[in-house]
Amino acid sequence: MVVVELKNISRHFMLGNNQVNALTHINLTINQGEFLVLKGASGSGKSTLLNIIGIMDQASHGETYIAGKSLNQLSDNQQSAMRKKHIGFIFQSFNLLPVLTALENVQYPLSLQGIKNTKERATIALERVGLGEFIHHKPNQLSGGQMQRVAIARALVTEPDIILADEPTANLDSVSAQSIMTLMTELNQQGITFIFATHHDYVLSKASRIIELKDGAILEDSRKAVA
Ligand code: ADP
Ligand code: MG
Repeated sequence: MVVVELKNISRHFMLGNNQVNALTHINLTINQGEFLVLKGASGSGKSTLLNIIGIMDQASHGETYIAGKSLNQLSDNQQSAMRKKHIGFIFQSFNLLPVLTALENVQYPLSLQGIKNTKERATIALERVGLGEFIHHKPNQLSGGQMQRVAIARALVTEPDIILADEPTANLDSVSAQSIMTLMTELNQQGITFIFATHHDYVLSKASRIIELKDGAILEDSRKAVA
């Protein structure tokens, strides 16, 4: 099943009088269950592409389909509903709210959706990432690897079919990074589609598909057997 389809996507930014072409003519189809890694030099367009797939940014041209629906035909509210239903996002710097406990950080996206009984679901999500004993800790009482696990639980708790991760291991030591990767591959085996931006070789070794971007265009798209 196709979960994401990009048709001739371009994204331009204006910097003063100069146009920056962050993405040009991207065509891409992503199937459910893929573990897809975006690689490419800094500035090649990885974050811009993730933000468009994650419905956090809009393309300048072209059409994006998420779960078979074209975003172009949806209002802002409908796009926001699509994002909450289908997408989880994990960031390089975790982006946890520092005043909230791990549990409260994970409850937060559920509260935004007006869901009651958030405590049980958030607790289960934190147990799923191995943090059952840390639910009342605040981010500054957790290690980097643990903070990223909270962020993964926060992405998981809404039961998205796609998790987007923008260099999620870049701020972690190699041991924490590898355990985060192990967790993500387990979640992928449970059916969640992952789309990653990364430079790390061991992330590339887990990928079922690697797309290399250069200057906002797809240089290479290769599928491989998982290591
Ligand atoms: P990557 O994540 O691969 O490092 P980005 O997607 O962040 O690349 O950036 C791609 C290009 O678009 C870069 O040249 C960057 O400077 C530019 N760019 C990204 N976001 C903006 C923005 N909001 N305004 C202007 N230029 C931007
Ligand atoms: Mg980036």
